[in-house]
Amino acid sequence: MKITSIYSKFIQGAPICTDTRKVTKGCIFFALKGDNFNGNSFAEEAINNGALLSVIDDESFYTLKDSMILVQDVLKTLQSLATHHREQLNIPIISLTGSNGKTTTKELINAVLSKKYNTTATQGNLNNHIGVPLTLLSMSSDTEIGIVEMGANHLKEIELLSKISLPDYGYITNFGKAHIEGFGSLEGVVKGKTELYKYLKEENKIAFINTNDERQVIESTNLDKVTFGSGNSDYTIELLDASNVVKVKYNNVDITSNLIGLYNFNNIAAAIAIGVFFKVSENKIKEAIEDYIPTNNRSQRIEKKGHNIILDAYNANPTSMMAAIKNFEQSEGINKVLFLGDMFELGDTAKEEHQIVTDYLSKNKIGNTYLIGTNFFKTSTEAAHVNLFKTFEDLKEFIANLQLKKCTILIKASRGMALERIVELL
Ligand code: ATP
Ligand code: MG
Repeated sequence: MKITSIYSKFIQGAPICTDTRKVTKGCIFFALKGDNFNGNSFAEEAINNGALLSVIDDESFYTLKDSMILVQDVLKTLQSLATHHREQLNIPIISLTGSNGKTTTKELINAVLSKKYNTTATQGNLNNHIGVPLTLLSMSSDTEIGIVEMGANHLKEIELLSKISLPDYGYITNFGKAHIEGFGSLEGVVKGKTELYKYLKEENKIAFINTNDERQVIESTNLDKVTFGSGNSDYTIELLDASNVVKVKYNNVDITSNLIGLYNFNNIAAAIAIGVFFKVSENKIKEAIEDYIPTNNRSQRIEKKGHNIILDAYNANPTSMMAAIKNFEQSEGINKVLFLGDMFELGDTAKEEHQIVTDYLSKNKIGNTYLIGTNFFKTSTEAAHVNLFKTFEDLKEFIANLQLKKCTILIKASRGMALERIVELL
């Protein structure tokens, strides 16, 4: 009853709002709770600022009975509303998850599909239990295909997000060592991510499977699937080159992306396969991928003072860190320099995982190496080309006296390290 009355307002055009600072006239305000705030306490203010309705779950704030709706649980109401909307839309939805590459893949898929369809995709990184409902609610009757990024750092989260978004198609970008703190182990990660496969299996829906990833093949044996990859697959996508930007070939069409890193071959291949599956023409797929330029410090290329910089300071975990290092090692470039910062959320494995990186860089001299953060600082090395810094400030002092000329530079760390600050120092 309550859902349908909220839904009738929403469908008449009332936008959804969850932040009182962003209340717009005629919106529906959902009074969500966070660790440090209780949205209920803003419910009245939201109405005073023009909200049409405030949805609350704390009776003590039920002051304006005509414009407030008291429910059991605001978050669950938001999620049910999103699912209800998704059911009404009756369009194909592609949901994707994975340890790394979700946002990049989502944006590539969206670039490709939007060449032929009206698409709505997750904005930025809004991929959690609140972001997914908001993404679904941002789809309109004009939307022809929805693309939903689902993030998780604990078991059961992908199950929940799948049940909210009800995907017809699913894709897991990879299984890597991200969020080990919440998942416990790599096996935990696999279990968590494959909750999407479990959902697809139960609902007779389709998975896109990258045959280059052995684990995806193993985990999807009993699923309805569409396969792609460089070997025997429904869609064969060939890697031409990854020494600089990734170049691929599909069906005699060569595609040169603006993305670096061998791992982006997988992301591009997924977007091509999904594009072909949805009958976007090969030339439009080529155009979409060639025009896509990554943003937000994700594998960005920057030229500054003669330096050729690969800025990948958006996030890092052991899998993506080693992938980036090995890719950098094999890539062309003179005077290679590495600035790498701590990887977060590793729990008990933090010490070991940082030492693995330090050991690799000590044994394989790619170039002068600067490792920054309390975790890297605790690792040990005897290599003269590997330097450890406890804090960014320590590094800053050191860089001031460094004469770097025409270098090829890799910068990578977890988001919290904000290593993009290094670019300003060069
Ligand atoms: P988040 O968990 O923050 O949502 P995400 O999964 O959306 O991350 P992206 O933002 O697309 O991932 O990429 C983040 C970083 O992960 C990239 O800059 C790159 O270093 C690495 N990465 C991207 N794609 C892959 C992949 N397929 N395999 C391994 N690492 C990848
Ligand atoms: Mg993301």
